[in-house]
Amino acid sequence: MSRNISNSLKKLVAKRANFKCEYCLLADRLSFYSFHIEHIRSVKHGGNDNQENLAYCCPECNFAKGSDIATFVGESDEITRFFNPRRDNWNDHFMVSNSMILGKTPIGKATEQIFRFNDIERLIFRKQLAELGLYP
Ligand SMILES: [Zn+2]
Repeated sequence: MSRNISNSLKKLVAKRANFKCEYCLLADRLSFYSFHIEHIRSVKHGGNDNQENLAYCCPECNFAKGSDIATFVGESDEITRFFNPRRDNWNDHFMVSNSMILGKTPIGKATEQIFRFNDIERLIFRKQLAELGLYP
């Protein structure tokens, strides 16, 4: 949700992300839908509207994340936070294999799982983009 984020701040966040989803790397020009300005730490959990808490995000990632900030990975009882595009390097936590986005770390796996990166519709779309040289 964008709340009271100014248009200039929205533009800054989009440009900073090179107009790609900061989680699944989809380019906004390849989506039928407008991308969202997402709160990394959700408002529900005390997140603010400062640019350091905002990420450029495709609707699929944002709807899947909702107000979540963490989850359990596998059988572990430990809570693992999601990937934070302001703090973390994407390539440290994820890899792309045959258009699938795979978590390499607990943070990457937690994010892959909850953001539903590899739902079949999204995977087929990324495979088509990859064949055209448009992903990743
Ligand atoms: Zn995305």
